Amino acid sequence: MLYGAIEAGGTKFVCAIGDEELSMIERVSFPTTTPEETMQRVIDFFEEYRDELVSIGVGSFGPIDLQRASATYGFITSTPKLAWQNFDFVGTLKRSFNVSISWTTDVNAACYGEYVLGHGKGLSSVVYYTIGTGIGGGAIQNGRFIEGFSHPEMGHMLIKRHPEDLFAGNCPFHHDCLEGMAAGPAIEKRMGVKGQELLEEDPFWAIEASYIAQCAYNTTLILSPDIIIFGGGVMKQEHLKKKVQAEFVRLINRYVDTPSVSEYIVTPKLADNAGIIGCLALARDQRNL
Ligand code: ADP
Ligand code: ZN
Repeated sequence: MLYGAIEAGGTKFVCAIGDEELSMIERVSFPTTTPEETMQRVIDFFEEYRDELVSIGVGSFGPIDLQRASATYGFITSTPKLAWQNFDFVGTLKRSFNVSISWTTDVNAACYGEYVLGHGKGLSSVVYYTIGTGIGGGAIQNGRFIEGFSHPEMGHMLIKRHPEDLFAGNCPFHHDCLEGMAAGPAIEKRMGVKGQELLEEDPFWAIEASYIAQCAYNTTLILSPDIIIFGGGVMKQEHLKKKVQAEFVRLINRYVDTPSVSEYIVTPKLADNAGIIGCLALARDQRNL
């Protein structure tokens, strides 16, 4: 019995095959191009495992439709990636492999990965954010993803502008929301170089940390989770976590008694594998949580 995993990102896809213990047997990665071309590569990858394949877990960029009663369940919906708008992801997979498919957002999948095997293991309430090309968040409460009419879109929360930050913001919908101010492209547009080119000493990192700390502050007051995990490319700045923790402590000002900040605001234990392991775990657990 084998399980399939698809981490469908806006820039790249990762596919993996794994077993009951979530060990990866094979893993591939390729760029996200057109849906036709990309999905063909996905199908080709799983083809040789067809006979043992029990289920597939998908964590997709979005927005996506996860309402089971909806006519467009399993679709990527209003994404800015035009070729993928209204693309029937689950239906396309189902036509090739008649197995059960767990379908959720990329950040929910990463949250699940950390919940099952990472820093969230044994905890009941876990929140995961990615700070990368965009900002997205997912939350698990007692084994289920938090959602209502749709999945959360926490990356677009409003935050207070840092007094020294004159950047107008980069979000086409809200300009200076969290994603518009703090995602990788906002850093690049503001600073003229990518985040990975900025020195650790650059004063900009205090501004970035203030936005991520506000995100942790808002999350704490709304959900009181057991842990908040920040992943994604921008968090590869290793000094950033400490800056965020310090600013969070200042902001919350002992109003609530959170777990110790070094264990409460963390980066993913599974590093870049949180998403794909989460997809594998979703397939194994056959969860549409
Ligand atoms: P994606 O969000 O597309 O899945 P990533 O999480 O890797 O991919 O995010 C990519 C973004 O993160 C880019 O805007 C990039 O400039 C930024 N980034 C990647 N590595 C670093 C780094 N070491 N420091 C700061 N920013 C980084
Ligand atoms: Zn926005």
